[in-house]
Amino acid sequence: MSFRFSTRSRARMKGVHPALVAVLESAITRSPVDFMITEGLRTPARQAALVRAGASHTLKSPHLTGHAVDVAALVEGKVRWDWPLYPRIAETVKTAAKEQGVALIWGGDWPTLRDGPHFELDRRVFP
Ligand SMILES: [Zn+2]
Repeated sequence: MSFRFSTRSRARMKGVHPALVAVLESAITRSPVDFMITEGLRTPARQAALVRAGASHTLKSPHLTGHAVDVAALVEGKVRWDWPLYPRIAETVKTAAKEQGVALIWGGDWPTLRDGPHFELDRRVFP
């Protein structure tokens, strides 16, 4: 079974770096877990609101420049936040990134403030 992005997910990737979009487009077709894009490009005002709410800790988020996306796992079309779903998605996204030679970082690999839904381009390669 192969999944595909909804129009909404595609709309949320507007303004996201084409290298990251290409990786996600490839990953969705072979991910064992369906997923949607919840957020891509962010305005400074929204980023500030997220920091105020405690959902983010930086005003220099890669979301501000289209270098990051957040995903949500879907099981039978419904959003699930169960942690085990996210490493499975990440593995597929990482494989697609490797194939395309794209330096990608998964928030789930961070030692602190682990962020399973978050993927970003490596700033050292994509300034
Ligand atoms: Zn994020």
